[in-house]
Amino acid sequence: MEISVPTLLRIKPNALFKTGKYLRKENFRTIALFWGEGIKNLFGSQLTISLESSEIAVRYEENVTSCELETILKKAFSLPDKIDAIVAIGGGKVIDYSKYIAFLLQLPVIAIPTSVSNDGFASPGASLYVNGKRRSLKARIPYGVVIDTEIISKSPVSFTISGIGDLISKYTAIQDWKLAWYAVQEPVNDFAVLISKNAVETMVHYNNKDINDLEFIRLICGCLVMSGIAMEVSGSSRPASGSEHLISHAYDMVASSPTLHGIQVGVATYAISAIQRNRDKATIKKVLNDTGFFTYVTKNPLNKNDFIKAIRLAPEIKSNYYTILSEKENIEALISFIEEDDICKQLIV
Ligand SMILES: [Zn+2]
Repeated sequence: MEISVPTLLRIKPNALFKTGKYLRKENFRTIALFWGEGIKNLFGSQLTISLESSEIAVRYEENVTSCELETILKKAFSLPDKIDAIVAIGGGKVIDYSKYIAFLLQLPVIAIPTSVSNDGFASPGASLYVNGKRRSLKARIPYGVVIDTEIISKSPVSFTISGIGDLISKYTAIQDWKLAWYAVQEPVNDFAVLISKNAVETMVHYNNKDINDLEFIRLICGCLVMSGIAMEVSGSSRPASGSEHLISHAYDMVASSPTLHGIQVGVATYAISAIQRNRDKATIKKVLNDTGFFTYVTKNPLNKNDFIKAIRLAPEIKSNYYTILSEKENIEALISFIEEDDICKQLIV
């Protein structure tokens, strides 16, 4: 089994200014540069100065607005020759797009997320549209991840709240994996479980849960990277994704206005933890409370009818993926819980 982990990993204030220096150190002199929507206006001059001062040549650049496999295939094979690395700056879309191009061309990719709303920037998969439908495709974990915590602290609150929701879901994901072992003997990779659990517990045990605190942000970013690595180690999404993720994927399909991945996942994690009788359910509740997750979602709630539809659809989202929702009575128990629980009544209306 071959496992790759990011070789270049910088999570600190003002890291963007040093990107040129980091690339030079790795001997990446010519790059293709992909910008997320609106990102060049925000950070274009900082990144360009950094690249120019380290004499990194940009052979090709593009603003990425879509995430379709057909476009990516065409693009990958029309890039100029002699590119040492691919650099992607922005949100999930541009990073997934670039990760897949890099995977096709067997080139290293450096991800520079400008917000951390989920663990996708360091995961081995890419979420792309194939024939109009969103699919999760295998790609490679980025060679480099550069996160400027100053930039993350200025990104909209909803993104960091979403990152916390995605991170807290490791508790329910791991429990679903263990249930899958007991129900259908799907093997559990203990080392992947350890990484995933350590990632979420690092966040949980940090005292100051102020999402504007640069140190807390640095920690969340590191934990999200570790969640990506847990998936790489197990060769599956199991250590990072259980029934709470299936509900979120289903919600994306049925809701008239879906919201950020990690926000949907965080709400589902809270509810699923009750049905699982998860031993960490009190911790989940406390973290979602202390970080301001509940307050944020109460002001921007999910839709109850859509959420119930998503719960019913969730077991069909992924075949051969046993979770607590594979048993029909648990679906009904979950729906009753979200109808009756006082916190759910505020998060899902
Ligand atoms: Zn996720």
